[in-house]
Amino acid sequence: MTDTPFSPLTPARIDWQAHTPVASDYDDPYFSRQDGAAESSYVFLQGNRLTERFASLADGDLFVIGETGFGTGLNCLLAAACFLQQAGDGARLHLVSVEKHPLCAEDLRRALAHWPQLAALSDALLAQYPAPAPGFHRLQLHPRVSLTLLYGEAEALWPLFDSPVDAWFLDGFAPACNPDMWQPALFAQLARLSRPGTTLATFTAAGFVRRGLIEAGFTMQKRDGFGHKRHMLVGHWQQSQAPARQSRRQQAIVVGAGLAGATTARALAERGWQVTVLDPAGIASGASGNLAGVVYSTPSAHLTAQNRFYQNSYSQALRWFAQHGFPRHPDEGRLNGVIQHAVDTRQWDKLSQAMASGVWPASLLRPAGDQAVELVGGGYIRPARWCEYLLDHPHIRLRQERITALQEGQPASVTLENGDSLSASAVVLCIAAASLQLPGLHWLPLKQIRGQVSYCRATEASAGWQQARCHGGYLTPALDGLHCVGATFDLHQLEQTPHDEDDRRNLAQLQEYLPTLWQELGGDAIQVADRRAAMRCQSIDFLPLCGPLPVASEHPHRAAAGLYLNLAHGSRGITGTPLCAELLADLISGLPLPVDKPLLDALDPARFIVRKRKKQPRWTP
Ligand code: SAM
Repeated sequence: MTDTPFSPLTPARIDWQAHTPVASDYDDPYFSRQDGAAESSYVFLQGNRLTERFASLADGDLFVIGETGFGTGLNCLLAAACFLQQAGDGARLHLVSVEKHPLCAEDLRRALAHWPQLAALSDALLAQYPAPAPGFHRLQLHPRVSLTLLYGEAEALWPLFDSPVDAWFLDGFAPACNPDMWQPALFAQLARLSRPGTTLATFTAAGFVRRGLIEAGFTMQKRDGFGHKRHMLVGHWQQSQAPARQSRRQQAIVVGAGLAGATTARALAERGWQVTVLDPAGIASGASGNLAGVVYSTPSAHLTAQNRFYQNSYSQALRWFAQHGFPRHPDEGRLNGVIQHAVDTRQWDKLSQAMASGVWPASLLRPAGDQAVELVGGGYIRPARWCEYLLDHPHIRLRQERITALQEGQPASVTLENGDSLSASAVVLCIAAASLQLPGLHWLPLKQIRGQVSYCRATEASAGWQQARCHGGYLTPALDGLHCVGATFDLHQLEQTPHDEDDRRNLAQLQEYLPTLWQELGGDAIQVADRRAAMRCQSIDFLPLCGPLPVASEHPHRAAAGLYLNLAHGSRGITGTPLCAELLADLISGLPLPVDKPLLDALDPARFIVRKRKKQPRWTP
């Protein structure tokens, strides 16, 4: 399936006129040449009465600002700064802004350097600024301020966003230069996402904009414009005021302390939840416990939901690492790029097309010699250390307990092996294929794929290797004097005991695809010092199961109250789990989501029931 709303992006072309960035293609500046910050504050912040509204937010309240045209981010950062000054510690701000032509990082840095008062927020934005890849991107500008950037055409992307907005900034260049940003279809989207009390402000006073917004249902008013400008517009959606929305933050239980569990627990804890993590074997005992894992993706030019997940989750993982400053030192790994060697011409064609199409921009993927590419920003880490780091949070507590059953409800609960039960408003299962053992969950379409990784002793030549490499398998630089060479892929053998034969298979594959490196590692004399076998858990359509647990036995199915899944990350756990953790934590907390609707549906555990019932209407597990 191709998601048509997404297409490769054309970055902004900037003409610098003194300190002011001007868009060459629209012949319009991003902000006022006189005093951009003062004009933005007047038009957008005062126009939406943000100072008073932020000051009146109560503990747990959520305020959402929507913007058409992110540009340099000036409006968003000014709003964030005002929020941090005015709102109490328990309130949260969510910014969501659409952008069809993102500025390159260098132009963004130059534009923001002009506002020293915004330095801390600008630094956070620059550190996480997404590469120009289509789709939604989630950034954390401050523990209480999130930003979702929708990269693509405004009219196509707002329909894929689904959270009510409290204040709108309409800032899409002058209507005469850019009529696309001032269309009835877009106004209808603003109306769909507005609720009683929602306001809007824009610098323009164009009559057709005012009439279009009135037609869409807004009450509009002219106000004095900024400086020499005569007028601007403000508006609101119904006079009555709906109560502020509250984000939910209570007690949660996360079952499993591998990558899926640790990221989910951390995302919930950062949203104010008290989280109990249950795992009888402690942190990262399953497939997440290998010595090293690779942060990589599978580039493709085709914008299917699956490929978009691989790309968006890769960018999200890089943002998490940037935000947390992990790895903290080389002993925990390095994010210095991953070299992907194409194993045949088909794979090379696919990688070349991903680059040529612009879907994978050069800041994410670039050529790296003979039939090889570099995944920029990727690398290798010790997954267990990452899990330990994530779980080390004052709101998270780990208990070494096994669960034997789950019960939906408000609160939901889990039964422990000793017969006790624990309850919480949300329970998230992050135990891969072990879920199949729980009563009622045998229907989950999960496969187990055994993978053995061989730990090979570093040689003088190999000790200098810098970057992780992927061929059919993968090879990492040394950690503790050992390289990971892996991993086998076995659907039929499921026992954990490692086999000598599998080490031979790993080394034979290395010899076939990377003969020089195989030689540097010792060739026929390579010493396998240790090995580890673990089970990957994969779904039948290769995407994780991330979302509410459906009650499959009922027709039509419904979501079980308080129960959620985050499973089936296959061999991409390090890369896929941060985005899934953000998604689950936002779903559970009632916050705007970091993924678009088609991707949400593609990850929804209920998708298998929907597909199965299409073929067999009476199917029940
Ligand atoms: N709010 C920005 C700031 O604070 O710097 C300035 C926004 S600038 C005036 C308008 C922005 O709208 C540009 O970044 C432009 O690329 C973007 N834009 C123009 N047409 C668009 C469209 N059809 N869909 C999405 N974004 C669009």
